[in-house]
Amino acid sequence: MPRLGAHLSIAGGLPRAVDRAKASRCDALQIFTKSTGQWRARPLPPEEVELFRRRVAESRLAPVVAHNSYLINLGTSQPVLRAQSIASMGEELDRAEALGLDGLVMHPGSYTGGSEPEGLRLIAEALAQLLDERPDGSVKILLEHTAGQGTNLGHRFEHLAEIIDRLQHTDRVGVCIDTCHLLAAGYDICSEAGYRRTFEEFHRIVGLRRIRAFHLNDSKKPCGSRVDRHEHIGKGCLGLDPFKLLLNDPRFVDHAMLLETPKLETPESKRRSDCDPWDARNLRTLRKLLVKSA
Ligand SMILES: [Zn+2]
Ligand SMILES: [Zn+2]
Repeated sequence: MPRLGAHLSIAGGLPRAVDRAKASRCDALQIFTKSTGQWRARPLPPEEVELFRRRVAESRLAPVVAHNSYLINLGTSQPVLRAQSIASMGEELDRAEALGLDGLVMHPGSYTGGSEPEGLRLIAEALAQLLDERPDGSVKILLEHTAGQGTNLGHRFEHLAEIIDRLQHTDRVGVCIDTCHLLAAGYDICSEAGYRRTFEEFHRIVGLRRIRAFHLNDSKKPCGSRVDRHEHIGKGCLGLDPFKLLLNDPRFVDHAMLLETPKLETPESKRRSDCDPWDARNLRTLRKLLVKSA
C-alpha cells in the first residue's frame, strides 16, 4: 500500500511535526525545516535535531521529506536573487541532511526576463553546483512538477527531463508529482484513459523510476488553467476517480502520497499537536479508496 501522509506544521519545534504525524496516523511526512517567508533560518539546535531524529526512528515514519521555501528561484537571471537562492537552497539541503531526511521537494523555479530554455539551464547549473559542493550528500532533490503559473517552469514533463538530462541523470535527483498541478498544467487524469496516457507520457519523457513522492491535492481550477489552488480530496475538479487510480496503481505501491490540502488552522489549533480535522477527513477519504487485496 502507498504510504499516506501529509504536510504538517513544525510550530513548537521540529519534533512536534512527528507528534502531529502520529496523531494523524500518517506513514509519511512532509515539513518545512524553516519559516518559508524568510531567507534567513534560525540555526537548528543540536538537541532539537537529535530529538527529531529519534522521534522519526521510533515512529517509523518513512519517507520524511522537506519542501523548500517559496522564495527560492534557481531559474532567475537576476544575480542578487540567484546568489541568494543558491545559498538558501544549499542551507535547506544541509538542514535536510542534518535531520536525516530522505528528500527535499523543490519547485524548479521561474524565468525572469530570459526565455524558458535559459531558465531551465540556470536551474540545472545551480543544482549541479549544489550537488558538487556536497559530494557525500544523501538527501535527494525532488523536482516538483508544477501548475505552470506565470513564468514558473516545471509544468511540462519535458522541463523536468531537460533538467535531469543536464544533471547527467544523477540518482540524487527525483521527481514529486502533485495531482492538482497535473490537472492545472493540462494533464487530464480525470478519466482512466487520461490517467494512463499521462503516466505513459511521463514514462516516455522522464521515466517512472524518477518519481519518489506524490502530493495528493484536488484542484479548485479546471484542467489547463495553470492556476495552483489546492482543494480537499474529491471536492474539486479532479473528483475521486484519479485518486482511486493512483492509490491502487501497482507501480506506486510503496510511494509516499502526501496531502497538501487546506487545514482548519485556528490560532489555537496551530499550537496543538493533534490531527487537523480536515486532514483527518481527507485521509479517511483516501483510505476508503484503497482496494483491499485479500
Ligand atoms: Zn510544492
Ligand atoms: Zn505540491
